[in-house]
Amino acid sequence: MTEFEEKRYSRQILLKGVGIEGQTKLINSKILIVGFGGLGTGVAMFLTRMGIGHLGIIDKDSVDISNIQRQILYDEKDVGVSKIKSGIKKLKQINANLIIDEYDFMLNQENANLIINKYDIIVDCTDNYKTRAIISRACIDNHKTCVFGGVNEFNGFIFTHIDKSPCFECLMGEYEKLVQKDKNNKVVGVIGAMVGIISSMQALEVAKIILNIGSLATDKMIIVDGMDFSTSFISVETKPKCYCNR
Ligand SMILES: [Zn+2]
Repeated sequence: MTEFEEKRYSRQILLKGVGIEGQTKLINSKILIVGFGGLGTGVAMFLTRMGIGHLGIIDKDSVDISNIQRQILYDEKDVGVSKIKSGIKKLKQINANLIIDEYDFMLNQENANLIINKYDIIVDCTDNYKTRAIISRACIDNHKTCVFGGVNEFNGFIFTHIDKSPCFECLMGEYEKLVQKDKNNKVVGVIGAMVGIISSMQALEVAKIILNIGSLATDKMIIVDGMDFSTSFISVETKPKCYCNR
């Protein structure tokens, strides 16, 4: 680690469980963020500030004025510009040494394995079940860890799949049912501060996985209720006929 990096991350290096060794691990990590909206911009910002050295970011959209209320890397002058282009410019302003792979298209069944295989940890920052199921299966196939997150009105959740732990389909149902779930889904309201809470939790979970500290949101979905700040858990078990248990 350079002297500059040691100074830059000094408050993090002081943490129990981090130190020079942990900070070096963070700098050497490759993380993929799928979706560069509310959750994705929050996760990307915290991971960049934390010192993660290499990010991959997937999103095909351009910035819309209705995004700015919750998508913290964008501002008014970004409206109409691609999210990848404008967001990455901001991340480079935070850390000029950050390496970023840009994917300005949707993750799908055809490209998922090829992309996901290149990274250590995948962060789901999408807003639909179909893409989450594609991510989940590709992570199982490639033995990758995935941190899922979602926000719905004043609630949010986080769920982590690692190694042989239950997968997203164990939690939410099998792929075909998840695709159907998207069709029945209506657009709901969302508040930026709630997206901030969940994206912060996802970024912290990524750090814990890299540093091998704390306990993870595996085997349980953690639900945060923004109205009273209560946290609850739903236990998840591996389903006998699930994709992860073939
Ligand atoms: Zn499963």
